[in-house]
Amino acid sequence: MPQIFDVVVIGGGPGGYIAAIRAAQLGLRTACVDEWRGADGKPALGGTCTNVGCIPSKALLQSSENFDQVGHHFADHGVRVRGLELDLAQMLRRKDKVVKASNDGIVYLFKKNKIAFFHGSGSLVSAGASGCEVAVKGAQNETLTAKNVIVATGSSPRPLPGADFDESLVLSNTGALAIPEVPKRLGVIGAGVIGLEMGSVWRRLGSEVTILEALPDFLGTADEQIAKEAWKVFTKQGLKIELGVRITGVKAKKDVTVEYGDAQGKSQSIVVDRLIVSIGRVPNTSGLNAGGVGLKLDERGFVGVDEHCRTNLPNVWAIGDVVRGPMLAHKAEEEGAAVAERIAGKKPHVDFNTVPWVIYTSPEIAWVGKTEQQLKADGVEYRAGTFPFSANARARALGDTTGMVKFLADAKTDQILGVHIVGPFAGELIAEAVVAMEFHGSSEDIGMICHAHPSLSEAMKDAALAVDKRALNI
Ligand SMILES: Cc1cc2nc3c(=O)[nH]c(=O)nc-3n(C[C@H](O)[C@H](O)[C@H](O)COP(=O)(O)OP(=O)(O)OC[C@H]3O[C@@H](n4cnc5c(N)ncnc54)[C@H](O)[C@@H]3O)c2cc1C
Repeated sequence: MPQIFDVVVIGGGPGGYIAAIRAAQLGLRTACVDEWRGADGKPALGGTCTNVGCIPSKALLQSSENFDQVGHHFADHGVRVRGLELDLAQMLRRKDKVVKASNDGIVYLFKKNKIAFFHGSGSLVSAGASGCEVAVKGAQNETLTAKNVIVATGSSPRPLPGADFDESLVLSNTGALAIPEVPKRLGVIGAGVIGLEMGSVWRRLGSEVTILEALPDFLGTADEQIAKEAWKVFTKQGLKIELGVRITGVKAKKDVTVEYGDAQGKSQSIVVDRLIVSIGRVPNTSGLNAGGVGLKLDERGFVGVDEHCRTNLPNVWAIGDVVRGPMLAHKAEEEGAAVAERIAGKKPHVDFNTVPWVIYTSPEIAWVGKTEQQLKADGVEYRAGTFPFSANARARALGDTTGMVKFLADAKTDQILGVHIVGPFAGELIAEAVVAMEFHGSSEDIGMICHAHPSLSEAMKDAALAVDKRALNI
């Protein structure tokens, strides 16, 4: 007997589980199908983000930051530690515990919201105006009937041609989060968010890290001034980053030899103990039977959707990494909640202009809205205000004065068009800018708001005031 639902979500990552929870909250009979298995072989809800992405990477970033602080910065505070040791096995166990707590949290939320969970691979059998059928292949094979299907199957790491992931020498994000001993020499291909975060973890734990990036610019999507500042800090910390390279060969035997042409076109090579490849991610569509039911994919293989995440098939929606737009967990979540609401007859809206970006390196990098180079290219007249953390009292007390806050506001209306931060807790500070932009706030609004003293958030206020050349603390 087929089981009947209002909504069946395929994929239990942040897009899928949030869509399922919101649908259930709205009174819709909801099921979620997910195929992920944890290291113990058991179902592990939460997708890439929870299992091998956001959560474990942040756990390791925090642990490695603690190690680095004790080793290199505590003495400045008059705290001397002798006999500092790294217990990497414990660090990895702790990371696994953080992941497990998040997996269990989603199971709890599914139970609380009465969401039926099916472990296995889901594919579309049929999709029409009167409803859809989803086949689940797992320990038990099932057919689910649904009025609506939400595809939230996420993405997988893109391998380098000719250098498949073996997760021992050539690592994707999965292997990069579980290296059993600190590699003396670590290579990273790709200086995007994942490459920088993973490179930072292992550098802090003692690896000599070389990052090779194909693009000629460092962090091309970030504001240029912020990217330049970050480059200065990262290279001073000891990350070796080479831009404009072209990888010509990877040979993995006992160690890994990477051959490449440098920015000048000269042949070079490096030998490393492990190599992380983080050159982008590809959408997971192969198991969906897209061809069989006529689900349209775009030219890059993503499920084609409109601005409301509707696919070309009636009652089939798609969200998160498997569709266009930034591959970010919170973008997937916003789309998930919005689709559930639309199915329930509401009129939600996702504002892609105010999706924040955070790179959890040390210092953190965060931004929302337009960069200065985008505004120039669009011919928008703007005013910029910057404020360095070196002039912020709380940053001095913390002992972390690297970086700055930068506001970009419309030259005529003063509406905030973009905010860019490199510095301590940038990922937390950016929330104020997101709220202000969502409410169409001006830089003057932020400048007029009382910010606690001493706090890092005062750098936000001072940068906003700097737009009108009236920062107070510099
Ligand atoms: C190392 C790393 C760090 C990251 N850090 C951050 C961060 O700090 N912040 C941030 O916002 N983003 C981060 N990301 C990106 C983030 O993980 C993704 O954007 C997010 O997971 C996308 O969510 P999703 O629900 O679309 O897909 P996913 O999380 O990929 O989940 C998709 C799920 O669907 C399942 N699935 C696939 N096909 C099928 C099928 N046919 N049947 C059943 N199940 C299926 C998969 O097994 C998976 O469980 C990071 C990514 C990586 C790799």
